Amino acid sequence: MRIVVLTGGIGGARFLRGVRAYAAADGAAVTAVVNVGDDAIMHGLRICPDLDSVLYTLGGGADPERGWGRAGESWTVADELAAYGAEPQWFSLGDRDLATHLVRTTMLNAGYPLSAVAAALSRRWKPGVDLLPATDQRLETHVVVEDGDGQRAIHFQEWWVRHRAQLAARRFVFVGADQAEPAPGVCEALAAADVVLIAPSNPVVSIAPVLAVPGLREAVVAGPAPVVGVSPIIDGTPVRGMADKCLAAVGAQCSAAGVGALYGARSAGGLLDAWLVDEVDADAAVPGVAVHPVPLWMTDDDATEAMVRAALRAAQSR
Ligand code: GDP
Ligand code: CA
Repeated sequence: MRIVVLTGGIGGARFLRGVRAYAAADGAAVTAVVNVGDDAIMHGLRICPDLDSVLYTLGGGADPERGWGRAGESWTVADELAAYGAEPQWFSLGDRDLATHLVRTTMLNAGYPLSAVAAALSRRWKPGVDLLPATDQRLETHVVVEDGDGQRAIHFQEWWVRHRAQLAARRFVFVGADQAEPAPGVCEALAAADVVLIAPSNPVVSIAPVLAVPGLREAVVAGPAPVVGVSPIIDGTPVRGMADKCLAAVGAQCSAAGVGALYGARSAGGLLDAWLVDEVDADAAVPGVAVHPVPLWMTDDDATEAMVRAALRAAQSR
């Protein structure tokens, strides 16, 4: 059994822990195709928030309370940078985390592609899944915001972290997407997959930038494997984070049905064969898609593994 998971950072990483638990029990191989739209250069270093969230979470090095960054983190360098007034001050990099960015930036400067960096970092963290960036090219999510001065585009991190998604977003632009191509191994994994799972990640700023890589969406839709999505929205609310702000900006309803409709039925040019929603959303209907209500709270690895098993059953009953 070969499973491909399209994923963002924290939500996707938690989901992947359940996929990995299933795979360990049933001998499946897992490839995670990870969003790079959040990537940014800070203090001269390349930051890959979603890849690192997946790496640290699966590798047992993530901070469980914060959800991002390293456990046992310290902030000496961040304090020193602040003492210099070095911008951006709204984005703190922990000392342990900085080592990852130094290794990555050194490899990128030496000419290695991001996919090779992900493989190198995986040798330390042993995530138990093949970790692939959606693309080796730079693809950055920018947000067109509107305030008293009119419209301007800012980096996704500035909107998300500095402004806490409180600035009205008009639209999202995936800068560089037109020049991007799927990272080595992505299309091969999709062509060989028995099932493609869409993690309960932010549909607008985690999954959409993955699918914005030319050829990647086509490889999912035209591939042989059934596509099963997992709703990141339960009872009309994003379980954590600010996905409601993102959905509003693209005119989608913040509900399990709304996100299902945004992805659309594969039979009608969309993505999904089946859609997992929480039991409280059992009445959610998505035209052309088989909707399966099951508990979707990722409270622990067992609960998440049960979600994964339900997704695989949904794939089989397509
Ligand atoms: P990010 O890149 O770090 O923002 O993480 P993702 O995009 O991968 O995932 C964030 C999304 O995960 C949030 O918008 C939530 O809607 C969703 N999420 C978080 N926890 C849960 C959970 O326990 N169950 C479900 N169904 N969704 C969750
Ligand atoms: Ca993210």
